[in-house]
Amino acid sequence: MSGYSLVIHGGAGAIREPGRFEPSLRRIVAAGAAALEQGATARDAVSLCVTLLEDDPLYNAGLGSVLNAEGRAECDAGIMDGRNLMAGAVAGVGRIKNPILAARAVMEKSPHVFLIGAGAEDFAAAHGVALVTESYFRTPERLTDLARAKARNETALDHYAPPTEKLGTVGAVARDRGGNLAAATSTGGMTNKLPGRVGDSPVIGAGVFADNASCAVSCTGVGEHFLRTTLARVVGFLIEDQGLDTQAAADAAIARLIGKVGGVGALIVVGRDGVCARAQNAPGLLSAWARDGDIEVSTQ
Ligand code: ASP
Repeated sequence: MSGYSLVIHGGAGAIREPGRFEPSLRRIVAAGAAALEQGATARDAVSLCVTLLEDDPLYNAGLGSVLNAEGRAECDAGIMDGRNLMAGAVAGVGRIKNPILAARAVMEKSPHVFLIGAGAEDFAAAHGVALVTESYFRTPERLTDLARAKARNETALDHYAPPTEKLGTVGAVARDRGGNLAAATSTGGMTNKLPGRVGDSPVIGAGVFADNASCAVSCTGVGEHFLRTTLARVVGFLIEDQGLDTQAAADAAIARLIGKVGGVGALIVVGRDGVCARAQNAPGLLSAWARDGDIEVSTQ
């Protein structure tokens, strides 16, 4: 149990100009791997990676969050520690620079699992999480994406929103040297979503899940599909209760997503044995993984 495993993702969809994402994915997975190499916990590694992904405007989380129908960012994030099933989440926050740090504060500093809106923002600020003004998220690219989605009268996944096609919900899953698992997911949601809409990303068991008895999972795709199938938890169930190996469980979960609701998306997994897996039916998935010194990046 002395090795470590780490997988990150930057969203699923029709990935245009994949070369733009490779240096960022490599830099961020390397930072997480270095931390795990030096003995960081899985919890620390996933929150580090997701914080770095949130700070990179290439992705639909934190700084690069897409805008809702009123032109505001409403971010969602969740984190889970597989060692003790502790979990924290925030939703509908528009003033928090790094929503994953707010989710972590909920997990570590409150008796609750899930805080939303102004209450989540006030709680985060009271625990030292940085706030920003709403204009922080109103980048020219995001305003353009929103105008296009409105013109087509649709709610768009970031990687499906032409012509920029450049952003993605983010996530990380890890197993540390002690054999503990953790998962984290963060998103701006979907362009032109109704105000107040929450997707799967912060929902424990839908878009994020970790349990040392099975695996750590982070999902990306149309949130409504993952909510209706509780898909992250399904992967854990298939490993712990049905005896599937990590890749087989990831594949079976995507098959269930398709079979049950005609869903679209992808997920990344680290199994309790440290095996890294990903599965998708979306046309592309930005991901990178590190295992005991080896790093691979994939934009397909
Ligand atoms: N799952 C996210 C949501 O529905 C979107 C994404 O993964 O890109 O909020």
